Amino acid sequence: MMKHKIKYFDRFVFVLIPMIITAILVYNLSFAMLRVINAAMAQEWTLFWNESLWMMIFVVLLVPSNLLTAYCRTAFSKYALTRMKSDYLEAVFGKNIDEFQKDNNAAYVSALTNDFSIIETDYIEQIVGIAEGIINFSTAIIIYSMINPLILLVGIGMMVVNGLLSNLIERPVKKHNRERSELFAGYNSFIKEVLSAFGIIKNNGLETRVRTNFNTKSESVQQKKYIIDKLMSFVFVAQNALGMSVFLVLMLFVVKMTLSGAITFAAVVVIVNNIDKLIGPIFTVAEAIPKVRSVKAIFTRIEKSLQDKNTHVETLNLSSFEHEITFKNVSFAYEENQVLKNVDLTFEKGKKYLIIGPSGGGKSTVLRLLRKYFEPSEGTIEIDGSLLSDIKKQDYFARIANIEQMIFLFEDTLRNNLTLFKDYDDAEISEAIAKAGLTEFVQSNSEGLDYMIYDNGKNVSGGEKSRIAIARALLNKSDIIMLDEAFASLDRNRVKAIEATLMALDGVMIINVSHVVIAENKDLYDGIVQVKNKSAFMINR
Ligand code: ADP
Ligand code: MG
Repeated sequence: MMKHKIKYFDRFVFVLIPMIITAILVYNLSFAMLRVINAAMAQEWTLFWNESLWMMIFVVLLVPSNLLTAYCRTAFSKYALTRMKSDYLEAVFGKNIDEFQKDNNAAYVSALTNDFSIIETDYIEQIVGIAEGIINFSTAIIIYSMINPLILLVGIGMMVVNGLLSNLIERPVKKHNRERSELFAGYNSFIKEVLSAFGIIKNNGLETRVRTNFNTKSESVQQKKYIIDKLMSFVFVAQNALGMSVFLVLMLFVVKMTLSGAITFAAVVVIVNNIDKLIGPIFTVAEAIPKVRSVKAIFTRIEKSLQDKNTHVETLNLSSFEHEITFKNVSFAYEENQVLKNVDLTFEKGKKYLIIGPSGGGKSTVLRLLRKYFEPSEGTIEIDGSLLSDIKKQDYFARIANIEQMIFLFEDTLRNNLTLFKDYDDAEISEAIAKAGLTEFVQSNSEGLDYMIYDNGKNVSGGEKSRIAIARALLNKSDIIMLDEAFASLDRNRVKAIEATLMALDGVMIINVSHVVIAENKDLYDGIVQVKNKSAFMINR
């Protein structure tokens, strides 16, 4: 996304137009002023009043023109940044699930807060500033060269010196800005960890230790900013000196020309009046260019956080699931850690499976492979005879439902939490509620489906949450429901009841990973998969 930054400048022209209009007005105002003074010096009063009127017209027109420029600047900055952020979030959600889980998501928080605020002040606003500087500088150059072309040479000389200066300063600022952004990302993930470990820290009296770590990190971020600011103030001082000497050279030049009669007194007034347009941009542009270039490092970092390492292209659609999912000689390793070796398994449509085995044995890994979060290192997984790795994610994900231990609930009505904001008719909803065993819960409150759920389900019990997740899967017509220790925090009787509910779902394949096995329910499963010692096999019953 960040490679095509130019697309965020599609409305830049609306900033340029008012700036150019302003410049044209300034140009006309300058020459009206020149003629007014010349007329006064020649004591031609008719001409004087005539030109004064024009001068006033330009002065008045400059008011709306300046206002418009200011408005367009902020509007453009808002527009470009809002679009960039929204594209960024879209790109984050476009990442593969496995890649997202691998990364620490503090990197994304840092991008959305710190990095984009740097992009706003050091990139977008600076580019607008550079454009304004160039337009002002050109206006001054044109005015000066209309008065005397020799002055144009002085202007060009300054531009060259200026370019050399900003090039010289660019490198260290760029390096420091990148390091600062990295430090900030580290700082963010530290804060996130500390806040999520609040309980552990308090209970174990680790506050002092955490505070020391915090201070070190916070200080290094501040120190970086200090170094960058120090560098920037050096830049500023150097430019100040440059600007002053340019002013002096120019004034000496102008005095000499006035004395030799090459330019009039009126011309001197106009030259002095526009000197800020000539010198001002040297400061702003020289300061802006290194800033703009230094942001490149931030764009690269953002771009890198969005890249998926797995670039396998999925080519197959999955319009229905009819028969079976098979593991054929599947091996899997997390880098060095071999978890599964030569596994052969078959899961048939509509059947119910329980996956058991020791902790760390690879149960969740089997499920992650089934969920397409990872690809086998060797062997294949096939669905109705097609390679699962070639099936398009959105097609496959539409057919499966995952029930987690933590079930996410929106602060909204029970209805919307069941339908996930899609349209279903009431009969469908009632059926799903009945099958998921939620009828009693819905009837127990007077609001029924309009019952409000607050604060990620504070007013809903754990068992009811699981049943809401089951009802979601049923409404969504999922063919497969996968559960990974989904009931670990529920009491035995509740688990037993929910398990029975799941077993009664006709046509839906259930794959339930669980270390709590309820003996009476074991018989309800069609197959039990034992995962241990790198192997996984179906205990035939
Ligand atoms: P189970 O669910 O049976 O407890 P897992 O499938 O979660 O076991 O883990 C199997 C092995 O793989 C364990 O040794 C675990 O440490 C390792 N493991 C799990 N997830 C990852 C991961 N994302 N990266 C590296 N190793 C992992
Ligand atoms: Mg597990």
